[in-house]
Amino acid sequence: MAKNPTAATTRRGRRPAMKATPQPRHPTPAAASSSSPSCVDIEDLAPAVPAAAPAALRAQLLRWYDAHRRDLPWRRASGSEEERAYAVWVSEVMLQQTRVPVVVGYYDRWMARWPTVRSLAAATQEDVNEVWAGLGYYRRARFLLEGAKQIVEKGEFPHTASALREVRGIGDYTAGAIASIAFNEVAPVVDGNVVRVISRLYAIADNPKESSTMKRFWLATLHSLLTTYKELEFILFCSWELVGQLVDPLRPGDFNQAMMELGATLCSKTKPGCSGCPVSSHCQALALSMENSSVQVTDYPRVVPKAKPRRDFAAVCVVQIAEGLGKEVTDTKDNGDIFLLIKRPEEGLLAGLWEFPLVLVDEGKTDSQNRRKAMDKYLTKLLNIDVGRKSDVILREDVGEHVHVFSHIRLTMYVELMIINLKDGVDQLSKKEDDRTKLKFANKSSVESMGLTSGIRKVYNMVQAFKEKTLCVSERGQVPTRKRNRRSKQ
Ligand code: SF4
Repeated sequence: MAKNPTAATTRRGRRPAMKATPQPRHPTPAAASSSSPSCVDIEDLAPAVPAAAPAALRAQLLRWYDAHRRDLPWRRASGSEEERAYAVWVSEVMLQQTRVPVVVGYYDRWMARWPTVRSLAAATQEDVNEVWAGLGYYRRARFLLEGAKQIVEKGEFPHTASALREVRGIGDYTAGAIASIAFNEVAPVVDGNVVRVISRLYAIADNPKESSTMKRFWLATLHSLLTTYKELEFILFCSWELVGQLVDPLRPGDFNQAMMELGATLCSKTKPGCSGCPVSSHCQALALSMENSSVQVTDYPRVVPKAKPRRDFAAVCVVQIAEGLGKEVTDTKDNGDIFLLIKRPEEGLLAGLWEFPLVLVDEGKTDSQNRRKAMDKYLTKLLNIDVGRKSDVILREDVGEHVHVFSHIRLTMYVELMIINLKDGVDQLSKKEDDRTKLKFANKSSVESMGLTSGIRKVYNMVQAFKEKTLCVSERGQVPTRKRNRRSKQ
């Protein structure tokens, strides 16, 4: 691909010519994928669109947004700028997790419980996990709480994107969204939807996952907010602080939301509604597809095959305590079904969340015997539950498998239920508890209301279904035994 002759000069740090030079079009996805990923210079972006385009594109997009925007609870947030900033913050973090219809319910529950950043700052991590449960990436919920505490400690909600980035868990995207939507700062916002729209508007075939491409997307978004290409060239030499003084100050928040809305609705991944698109006249991917029948707008951005997730295997043992547990250690008066839960370490995957005893096993050792051996070793080492010696195992049954897929890990969990009677009571467990291993006993209703991950929730539901189908409680007490089927009675 031909390079912008001014680009090399630019990289060496000299001031660029303020007059834009027309450039060849960006490569089609086919051309890009036929060799190594194409590398289009940042400087190439500006001349790719006629100079009058940004203002017209902005006006058309905003007109469409005013007429078609979805009525979403966080867009209804009124009150002070800070209240609006809090609403944008919570909603944007949730929207990074899942789709809008799912977020609406979570958002409403969250705001009903913590309507202000101050009320959130007073919450506990357990409470936050409980409301967040099912959304995944619990680290984000944790950062929301830590960020709220930080903001309350400081005394006010940061008003600028650069100040917002100082808050725990707020990155470029969220900072730009809060700053532009709540405080009207001209800061670009680039999420997956915007990447797709920009890729198509500018016919950029690069891999959007590469950081150099993302940088270009940021600039392209910013460019749409700008008035002239001269400004765009100029900002390549300016810091982000100076950029804020250059961009259109009128409706940056609405512009960002309009871009995201366009990507989320009309400019979808597989079925873009180009005939109803407000910016179709600016769309280079559409123009290319009309010129050349082998090109489709959905070729942009280039689809990059996902890396295969790592395959992990784990033995999970739902330990139910039948007898020997003092009421003083349970979290309710109900001493019926008491389950043992262990808190994960405060760092790493699912940090600080509660789960049933879980131990990773090698792929070649996932048979029942090896899993039980690994689990027994774990329970003895960490909790001093020496299965068979210090506890009576009333029942131990394999329940089934559940596969939970994280972004980078495919975890197969082999679930078993073990009902035990602790011979020496709970003392043997509490003696072993230290800073690294926190444990608790929870009855059925507590387990059902606490913030478990969706994988562990599934494990719990599997065990409950197994018990209902397979076990019965003897008339003499609470100790469950296997149901006898007809054949065994004969
Ligand atoms: S014309 Fe089609 S591909 Fe281009 S931005 Fe609009 S919806 Fe997306």
